[in-house]
Amino acid sequence: MTTPPLIHTTLQNVFGHAAFQGNQQAIIERTLAGHHSLVLMPTGGGKSLCYQLPALHFDGLTVVLSPLIALMKDQVDALIRRGVDASFINSSLTKRQRQDRYAALAAGQYKVLYVTPERFQKDDFRTVIAQRPVSLLAIDEAHCVSQWGHDFRPDYTRVGAIRQLLGCPPTLALTATATRAVQQDIIQQLGLEPAEVQLFHEGIDRPNLALFVEAVWDEDEKLRHLLKILEPFAPGSTSSGSHIIYFTLIKTLERFSSLLDAEGLSHGCYHGNLNPRDRKRIQEAFLSGAEPLVLATNAFGMGIDKPDIRTVTHAEVPGSLESYYQEIGRAGRDGLPACCTLLYDQHDLPMLMEFIRWANPDADFYRQVHHALAHDLERINAFGIEWLNQQLLGRQARHDHRLESALLMLERHGTLARSGARHTLQLLGELPPALADDEALAAKLRRDQEKLLAMVEYARCEGNRKQFLEDYFLNGEETNLIN
Ligand code: ADP
Ligand code: MG
Repeated sequence: MTTPPLIHTTLQNVFGHAAFQGNQQAIIERTLAGHHSLVLMPTGGGKSLCYQLPALHFDGLTVVLSPLIALMKDQVDALIRRGVDASFINSSLTKRQRQDRYAALAAGQYKVLYVTPERFQKDDFRTVIAQRPVSLLAIDEAHCVSQWGHDFRPDYTRVGAIRQLLGCPPTLALTATATRAVQQDIIQQLGLEPAEVQLFHEGIDRPNLALFVEAVWDEDEKLRHLLKILEPFAPGSTSSGSHIIYFTLIKTLERFSSLLDAEGLSHGCYHGNLNPRDRKRIQEAFLSGAEPLVLATNAFGMGIDKPDIRTVTHAEVPGSLESYYQEIGRAGRDGLPACCTLLYDQHDLPMLMEFIRWANPDADFYRQVHHALAHDLERINAFGIEWLNQQLLGRQARHDHRLESALLMLERHGTLARSGARHTLQLLGELPPALADDEALAAKLRRDQEKLLAMVEYARCEGNRKQFLEDYFLNGEETNLIN
């Protein structure tokens, strides 16, 4: 086993840090001793180092599972700058680049490799990776493993099989947020026993973030609050930094964009209806500081690593505390004070209840959709999704978005594919058992409703909001899984 002084040398010489932070050293030592850990550390806490440093002390390869293609490149570039032989393989590569990297991997190159879990569905990749001795498996954003986490990805549920394929190496799962239920699910999905996994929990507090909730009654009041929040940062003032205002609906975002225009406040808008080029332009203007204010839906921010975000304001209530905590986590990464304000209008709630219903079709609805796809695909592709929606729902169709959710879930489970410029649908298999399980689907609906309820309780909480978050994410239970 590596002795501690060696890891200090690596910390300084390779990573350029003077000392370890928080639990980093304990995590790294445990990992180098070949044991598994689950790491909960706030955003900006330094999770990457926990696997990047041991990677350099192991003989074999370190495989990092990450859900975010955009983040992989940044992380790999940073490692290469530090002289580490790192790479990533994902769908952003050309075929040629991918083949080159497969060849390099097979030839024993790379110390650290970032991949998405989806990559393990490709036979050629599985063949190559199976030849390499793997010393460490790191699962970043590990809450994606659990269907109870806020960014659930069905492919992450294959982590157990992926771990086996890699020869069951020491495993490190890392996330900023996981409730007790999500923690247990992560361990189970990995195929590990709770007793084998040590939980390193640093709490979730970010001391430099101040949390506010303003109860509002209408959009006029919201606008007044937004202007007040941004006032200290107006052009000509001495304060600098960047700001995000989050919205749930693109429609509301656009309305506020006009209102801010009328106030002469320059800003960018970022949401899912923009084409990728505009999205990239706005994100880059924000990251460079050229456009310090952005109005955004939750499509914005995954992978935003900007140190000087001074305010994150939610102009509409988010659907869960998990999302809320993740989004405010982007504020104040430089450690300087930042304000996170939730503008709470109870009139936002009925819409959120609808969203939850739409996001959770029941088994019957999945069966109908699957049946239609299996028997009527030609007409669906000719007439379009709207037509299918009409067939399924009749006059209700215009006010019901369950079909979008159902198609997305079928896609995520690999049962449905869309191809070509016209997004032609192709059915690839039977209805997955998970989408035919009435009880499980109902339980998921209930959990989503409970999450919204917790969000509302937070908004109404008169006491210590940080304590409220702490209680929610830790469930007030003891934090070490080893008994
Ligand atoms: P997380 O993934 O937990 O959000 P990162 O791993 O991206 O956080 O690290 C956040 C920042 O903290 C990075 O800029 C990183 O270089 C820095 N950092 C990590 N560990 C240390 C340390 N021991 N000393 C100083 N800075 C550190
Ligand atoms: Mg990270």
